[in-house]
Amino acid sequence: MLVTDLPLADRVALVTGASRGIGFATAQALARMGAHVIACGRSKRLLEDLDDALKAEGLAPATLVPFDLRDFPAIDRLGQAIFERWGRLDVLVGNAGQLGQLGPIGHVKPDAWNELMEVNVTANWRLIRSMDPLLRIAETGRAVFVSSGAARRIRAYWGPYSVTKAALEALAKSYAAELVETHVRVNIFNPGPVRTAMRAKAMPGENPETLPQPAEAATELVKLCLPSCTAQGEIFDSKV
Ligand code: NDP
Repeated sequence: MLVTDLPLADRVALVTGASRGIGFATAQALARMGAHVIACGRSKRLLEDLDDALKAEGLAPATLVPFDLRDFPAIDRLGQAIFERWGRLDVLVGNAGQLGQLGPIGHVKPDAWNELMEVNVTANWRLIRSMDPLLRIAETGRAVFVSSGAARRIRAYWGPYSVTKAALEALAKSYAAELVETHVRVNIFNPGPVRTAMRAKAMPGENPETLPQPAEAATELVKLCLPSCTAQGEIFDSKV
């Protein structure tokens, strides 16, 4: 198959949390479909591992953007840089997230609460704010936000994480509703339990061997990034 026949050939895709886990696998899957990946995460070393993995497969190198998503002006600068270099953004995957502190909701430290809200919610709003014009310019702009079953399945001791994911879903659905008359499509992906560092932190007693690999979740997620995806404002629960 020619590279130009790939479904995301010549497309530019931004993935947050691409340094490991589901984001890393999503960046790989998008690159295999022909996209040029802009990979974000705090760890430069882990982003370089992604770049090495892409090159080892003979894929185009990614553009690595190591920064903390709580640096909101940096998100604005990234939008400006993408506009100057490519003039558009075809795919936005808001995947980066943190688990935060599990425990009684009244025991959560204010700093921990604020950090979780900033990473899981506010950063995604800032991404929308900065990338919306670029998605609208793209021929088939696609945005996917990675949520969790915890947004809707509320249980004791998971309060802050659940609050942020419920807010993220409201944010993404609001954004999707504003775009019905455009060619931009915005959806939400719930990966379910996946074998990552976050899951191990949440469920330390669980045997990770029983869980799907990030690549399996990524295969589902990237379907929402394709020009052929017509859904708008829907929540997709992973089938793996
Ligand atoms: P990991 O902990 O493995 O990866 C999280 C990613 O987010 C890392 O790349 C990390 O990069 C990035 N990140 C975290 N904080 C920041 C920050 N302040 N600035 C920039 N990047 C940040 O988690 P998963 O891969 O498991 O999770 C990915 C998404 O999937 C999350 O939104 C999570 O809530 C969701 N999810 C995961 C499930 C699972 O079972 N794994 C289940 C349901 C939902 P770095 O540390 O380099 O900054």
